[in-house]
Amino acid sequence: MTNSEFLEILEILQKSVPSNSPSNILKNSFKRTPFTILIATLLSLRTKDEFTAKVCKILFSIANTPQEILDIPINRLEEIVKATGMYRKKARVIQEVSFTIIDRFNGVVPNSKKELLSIKGVGEKTANIVLNNAFNIPSIAVDTHVHRITNMLGFIDTKNNKETLKELERKVPKEYWSRLNFTIVSFGQTICLPRGAKCDICPIVPYCHSIKK
Ligand code: SF4
Repeated sequence: MTNSEFLEILEILQKSVPSNSPSNILKNSFKRTPFTILIATLLSLRTKDEFTAKVCKILFSIANTPQEILDIPINRLEEIVKATGMYRKKARVIQEVSFTIIDRFNGVVPNSKKELLSIKGVGEKTANIVLNNAFNIPSIAVDTHVHRITNMLGFIDTKNNKETLKELERKVPKEYWSRLNFTIVSFGQTICLPRGAKCDICPIVPYCHSIKK
């Protein structure tokens, strides 16, 4: 697949993101600040956006600043975030991250990748999502949908998320970076599902060689 075909796909998919895609629901489920975006991203790791959205709604109605997160007793925080899975670890991580933001960054989420990655518990995908969504700094967040679909379409040929990020950064013009994750993730959640892709309603059939006949 050529670069221009892939960019055409992005344009088509962007126009057809359903408002009820889990990614969209999560995006609209809480008041967005750099801090809530960071915490929501940490909670969303290895779980479905539907569960993260529900938890964020409850959590941020109780606490939406680093100090307020730290003020919640750990047992209660575990209960609140339970539905996102790995809740003991996630409760601990979001308190540690909150502490670091107060301790090292004066309570303000940093807007550089280097500083974000220096916070224990923040990985590259999380940092890129925060840069993109909180600070409008173009960056590509690669998750399983992005890795799977860009490879399935034959746009890239990579073995893991790290390689995928490198290739996408190399091949996709920067002005597309910010929308790439949201557009492809929404598509992967609603139409090009990992199991049971809905090829009959897919808007990019002419571009796909993996269509289920
Ligand atoms: S045609 Fe089917 S497999 Fe191909 S991109 Fe669309 S949903 Fe996915």
